[in-house]
Amino acid sequence: MQTLRTVAELRTRVRGWKQDGRQVGVVPTMGALHEGHLSLVRAAKRGCDRVIVTIFVNPTQFNNAEDLAKYPRTEEADAAMLAAEGVDILFAPAPEEVYPAGFATGVAVQGVTAPLEGALRPGHFEGVATVVAKLFGMTQANRAYFGQKDWQQLQVVKRMVADLNIAIEVVGCDTIREADGLAMSSRNVRLDALSRAQAPGLYKVMGKVAAAIKGGADVAAVLAQGREDLRQAGFTEVDYLDLRSAAMLEPMTTLDQPARLLAAAWIGGVRLIDNIAV
Ligand code: AMP
Repeated sequence: MQTLRTVAELRTRVRGWKQDGRQVGVVPTMGALHEGHLSLVRAAKRGCDRVIVTIFVNPTQFNNAEDLAKYPRTEEADAAMLAAEGVDILFAPAPEEVYPAGFATGVAVQGVTAPLEGALRPGHFEGVATVVAKLFGMTQANRAYFGQKDWQQLQVVKRMVADLNIAIEVVGCDTIREADGLAMSSRNVRLDALSRAQAPGLYKVMGKVAAAIKGGADVAAVLAQGREDLRQAGFTEVDYLDLRSAAMLEPMTTLDQPARLLAAAWIGGVRLIDNIAV
């Protein structure tokens, strides 16, 4: 595996692959890799001839300076994991390579970015869409692999690719969980022992809520009870626990189309997000 820092070097390598007719896959990440990321890498290895993993802690998608400063950075360990998976290129550019002086363009997706994470983290999805569009342009990949763990982000990326006619196939991959149900996340390392023990309550409560909704119970009442159950389970604040249409993320009061139950809640000073199909 080669680690590259500049777009020019990356383009040279990819040009050679393309001339040889190779299919190129990309897995965009912010590093601090875990089994969730590696599941995307394995899907890319299965589906493509060459695999690029990007590690870039994108400053423009953080709406909170402290969250950006505290974001775990473990590039050496990440590189070892990726090499062991047979990744061809780790692309880990510096912020100045991605946002050189004079940078003045943003990608603003409407609609699907408005609720949930978009409402709570102003500018977040514009930062995500812009950097993902740039990574697609830099890597010229044929396929890109994203986790369903960040369901709304996956819908935003799909919308952007369709709307901007970007020639890439977006592949959504299942959420990988710890044995106790907690969705893997780079932020989980920030949980203290008590919070880590309580954190699986999020997935448990969501499962209970989804089952009740599927069983025909009143959606608003079940969601209100679910929020209360999360507080009882140790979550100090529930940003949302909501039933939404799967692709557009519009509010739903009855189960009349494919739906997703999405949640964001705080425990021990760490904000966890998760989602499941309903
Ligand atoms: P991040 O490094 O958190 O920006 O995540 C990079 C990619 O990995 C995104 O597409 C995430 O959705 C995906 N990802 C993160 N955690 C998981 C997980 N537990 N299971 C599957 N994919 C994940």
